[in-house]
Amino acid sequence: MKERILRQIERGTLEREEIRFLLETHNKDIQEALRKKAWDLCQENYGDSIFIRGLVEFSNYCKQTCYYCGINGKNSEIQRFRLPVEEVLSACEYGYNKGFRTFVLQGGEDPSLEDDYFISIIKSIKKSFPDTRITLSLGVRSYESLKKLKEAGADRYLLRHEAANEELFGKLHPKNQSFEERRKTLYHLKDLGFVVGSGFMIGAPFQTIENILEDFDFLQELQPQMIGVGPFIHHKDTIFHGEGNGDLELSLKVVSILRILFPQALIPSTTALNSIHPQGRILGMLHGANVVMPNLSPEKAKQNYSLYDNKAIQNLEAAAYIHELDEEFMKIGKKIKIDVGDPIDGKRG
Ligand code: SF4
Repeated sequence: MKERILRQIERGTLEREEIRFLLETHNKDIQEALRKKAWDLCQENYGDSIFIRGLVEFSNYCKQTCYYCGINGKNSEIQRFRLPVEEVLSACEYGYNKGFRTFVLQGGEDPSLEDDYFISIIKSIKKSFPDTRITLSLGVRSYESLKKLKEAGADRYLLRHEAANEELFGKLHPKNQSFEERRKTLYHLKDLGFVVGSGFMIGAPFQTIENILEDFDFLQELQPQMIGVGPFIHHKDTIFHGEGNGDLELSLKVVSILRILFPQALIPSTTALNSIHPQGRILGMLHGANVVMPNLSPEKAKQNYSLYDNKAIQNLEAAAYIHELDEEFMKIGKKIKIDVGDPIDGKRG
């Protein structure tokens, strides 16, 4: 089996059962071959460039109650915040001056924020900085709302599918959150011309290796241009408190497999990865990732956007340290590219 798997990795053609084997194996030679292939494919497609996205967390209010999430609407232990439009814009201006050309606006599903709030932000950013891209991460929204946001100038949208297996989805979310609606929203985003990002947690409670294979199947059907995955890390105020603190080995294998299955995808080395290992960000890059999302949010937002415990928010996670981050990448032969960092499938966004 080992020889056959090594050959398949080298060819970059992985069948479902081979992927299962890779997810299950602890063999170091195979893991290194997988990593090396993912690295090579990333180099072939994106060279030594790392793209940076400036993350602005605009609100931690959320009407949803995903069981794994620290800012779920039922958690009364956290301090809630909502940034006025001006504060979001000044975070973007700061980011632009630091070299950011993509802004990611991320928040909970805050019922007090209407489309107008986002439209005003999107139009202002595009007016002041026309050479930028805007990524939204606002959760599930109606087709009409998404259409308005696209028309206002938003380019990209991140919506993790979370779990492609309906039963697992139901164990991670309350009944009022629809598995179908989430998937449908992803297709709406594609129809509307957004560059789409999806993804899932690795090592979530109840998740099996078969479930991860189903996640790959779904991603292959959806064909998103951006794929975000990160290790599950529990949050102390959720029902999954004590359920796990991140499986580094499995997470890195998933990143590498994704690079092989989607050679041209934009794949971030996520904050969650860096939260479970001091070198997590670099390890993600060494395993095929090519995007990082330093945080541009004001301090009060960073402190309270607590999706899981021990989230890395200091130093190199902060946009202020972009130069230091670049120095870290240079040690592995990569460098930050000041660019919008569009996907290379010919699509602007
Ligand atoms: S994961 Fe998103 S939608 Fe779910 S509770 Fe957290 S912020 Fe809200």
